[in-house]
Amino acid sequence: MGKNCEPGALIIVDLQSDFLPGGSLAVPGGEEVIDVLNGYIDTFVQREWPIFATRDWHPPNHCSFKAQGGLWPEHCVMNTPGARFSPALRLPAFASIISKGTDPKRDAYSGFEGTDLEERLRKMSVPRLYVGGLATDYCVLNTVKDGLQRGFEVKLLEDAIRAVNLKPGDGSAAIKEMVDLGAIPLERRERMRAEQRSDEEKQFRD
Ligand SMILES: [Zn+2]
Repeated sequence: MGKNCEPGALIIVDLQSDFLPGGSLAVPGGEEVIDVLNGYIDTFVQREWPIFATRDWHPPNHCSFKAQGGLWPEHCVMNTPGARFSPALRLPAFASIISKGTDPKRDAYSGFEGTDLEERLRKMSVPRLYVGGLATDYCVLNTVKDGLQRGFEVKLLEDAIRAVNLKPGDGSAAIKEMVDLGAIPLERRERMRAEQRSDEEKQFRD
């Protein structure tokens, strides 16, 4: 992201231990997004732009668990180690935590579903969202769709997402769906070019 980047809120989706290697529902390559997200966090901290971190925060009898007839192994049970944010993620103290999926009878893939995320964004007059995290084909997809539907501009941090791919291709289909709906992919190449530019500018100033 270059320094001319437009103001917005960073939305980090579900960077929780259970979705990372060793977790009960590990997303392949999920750990690879942590450093990338830390880079985005640094940028947002420098600019004093808001940062939100969503998390699955399920009761032990949540309907999405296989034992209750759901699709997933037990994961992110509230107040358990699996529900913690990755310790490698450098979330600042001012980051807002959004807990979802807290109702035993309802699942919530989207950070907007059953939470006050929209209200908080509106209070801060945030025009656009930069969304990254896990997983591309579920919680990132649904958070992005809900953001677009609520009228936010959405930049998809394509270098900071990874997919579950229950079916091969789910991840790329989700990216296509988000882009077709109006999300703007922000790719690593673009970000690095922008950083390079601002480094060059710094050299000129020094
Ligand atoms: Zn869940």
